Amino acid sequence: MNVVPGSFAKCVGIKLGWEPGYRLIEMPPRRLKTASGSPTAKHKNQGGKLYPVMREINRIIIHCSATREGQDIDAATIKKWHTEDRGWSDIGYHYCIKLDGTLEAGRPLDRAGAHVKGHNSDSIGICYIGGCDEDMNPKDTMTPAQEHAMRELIFSLRMVWDKELTLHGHNEYASKACPSFKVSEKFADIL
Ligand SMILES: [Zn+2]
Repeated sequence: MNVVPGSFAKCVGIKLGWEPGYRLIEMPPRRLKTASGSPTAKHKNQGGKLYPVMREINRIIIHCSATREGQDIDAATIKKWHTEDRGWSDIGYHYCIKLDGTLEAGRPLDRAGAHVKGHNSDSIGICYIGGCDEDMNPKDTMTPAQEHAMRELIFSLRMVWDKELTLHGHNEYASKACPSFKVSEKFADIL
């Protein structure tokens, strides 16, 4: 992945410290490249400049990787599962957050993810690594660093979109444990 550990600002499609009103759609195309460096967005030509076309996004959905507490995997591993094992075109999530809080870019934001049946088109999928105990039962294993990164990411995405993207857990849309807690309780202060 072409994301410097801990360097949120370098993550795909996200740049912190914008002036008010800075919108993702106004970002130059070079900011919308995948980790592998290939262009991701459809671009529209405006006055000789190419601008990415962003899809309509209304919500953020939190997931877990359903891996054991303490098992430190990364977005590349999940991408492998999704592409090689499941035959998808790319990793299903837009972001992954490692145990130490490192934020990794997944599927480009302009493309719908593959993380929540029926609600992929207008959502952003964020996956924290973990979510299971030793016996693979659901457990909220989110580390303080992961929670900090999650909150920072949510805050930043809302700033970029300039609207209150609503916050949900996968288990609100499916009879699954993912992300192994109730988002409405754990993140009640920023719903
Ligand atoms: Zn999920």
